[in-house]
Amino acid sequence: MSTGFSPYQLPAEYSEIRSATRDVCDAGVAPHAAEADEAASFPTASYEALRSADLHAPHLPAEYGGAGIDALGTAIVIEEVARACASSSLIPAVNKLGTLPLLLDASDALKERYLPPVASGEAMFSYCLSEPEAGSDAASMRTRAERDGDTWVLDGVKRWITNAGVSGYYTVFAVTDPQAGSRGISAFVVEKDDQGVSFGAPEKKLGVKGSPTAEVYFDSVRLPADRLIGEEGQGFSLAMRTLDHTRVTIAAQALGIAQGALDAARAYAAEREQFGKPIASFQAVQFMLADAAMKISAARELTYAAAAKSERGDADLTYFGAAAKCFASDAAMEVTTDMVQVFGGYGYTRDFPVERMMRDAKITQIYEGTNQIQRIVMARELLKGRAF
Ligand SMILES: Cc1cc2nc3c(=O)[nH]c(=O)nc-3n(C[C@H](O)[C@H](O)[C@H](O)COP(=O)(O)OP(=O)(O)OC[C@H]3O[C@@H](n4cnc5c(N)ncnc54)[C@H](O)[C@@H]3O)c2cc1C
Repeated sequence: MSTGFSPYQLPAEYSEIRSATRDVCDAGVAPHAAEADEAASFPTASYEALRSADLHAPHLPAEYGGAGIDALGTAIVIEEVARACASSSLIPAVNKLGTLPLLLDASDALKERYLPPVASGEAMFSYCLSEPEAGSDAASMRTRAERDGDTWVLDGVKRWITNAGVSGYYTVFAVTDPQAGSRGISAFVVEKDDQGVSFGAPEKKLGVKGSPTAEVYFDSVRLPADRLIGEEGQGFSLAMRTLDHTRVTIAAQALGIAQGALDAARAYAAEREQFGKPIASFQAVQFMLADAAMKISAARELTYAAAAKSERGDADLTYFGAAAKCFASDAAMEVTTDMVQVFGGYGYTRDFPVERMMRDAKITQIYEGTNQIQRIVMARELLKGRAF
């Protein structure tokens, strides 16, 4: 493989995961990327390609029928899918985001019921934290779950939910004790077909257009008591612990988008001639490529280190998850902007993929906590002496 990956020489199994994923993406994902973006439609063909190779939810343990790939391997899968199509990389990324609360805290019965259909590709799993009035301040959510005998009754609105309407299952965070602040929030599994669940119109977005984003409405949805994930009142802590791990996957997505843009620009710079020479012979162009490679290399090392911490559950994962997501997404925005510049006017059109990659990179600075929030998280961990 031409690109220079981690100098730490990861064990061979990770190179195998990368090259197997790249083969699947070259054949079954990249060909649909421009079309999914143009039509703003879920890339079903890419989903099927990932599903047939067991790459749609690679993190799920073998005991639930999953591929059992660890956090680093999953990050490499997401990186490689994002290199081809950022929208499609949200399939494995959001399956991990939606199911991780179950893996972290749910009863065996809940895991045995809901994880196998995701492992087989029959259903996807979304994560419902954000609301119209509760974004960065997620603990101010208003969605309410009230106990009624042996059931919970759920009412409220979640906003910006990735794969809303496509996913069969949803992890939903709701207030169960309004007096208790963030300790009064609990997590539940909600099914798409539960009575009272409905979806809003797709958001018209700048990028990741092949990934559906919509509101989810809960209108007196009655949930059996056993849909509670973990303990009552532990939902907010569970939401944050989940993000510690999955910010690593967003870092991997950003890394893949940046690598895809560099690969495209490097090939173009070697072929495109001006003043009788390939533009790659001009130092100004060389420096843009060199800066891109430098930023990607640094982002990759940080992302893989964070993935190892996620796998081990290290105490400084909160810092490293935030740092990797923030650094890699800022790098992806800078790299994709510069790679459009390498293409000149052609980079500004949909005739080449860097225009899509620049639009796709932007979201990685926003979701799973904006990069302002990541800096707040990092500073808090530093000042409390929990990192460095
Ligand atoms: C395409 C897409 C997919 C998404 N998918 C999901 C999903 O699947 N599930 C889900 O739950 N959510 C999802 N989100 C929501 C996403 O996580 C939020 O958009 C994000 O957390 C920011 O919240 P907000 O949009 O309300 O912005 P706001 O919180 O209103 O922030 C606006 C601005 O203010 C800044 N700001 C806010 N508070 C502070 C502060 N204390 N200090 C400094 N700056 C601050 C922010 O950084 C930002 O620049 C998605 C969003 C998008 C756009």
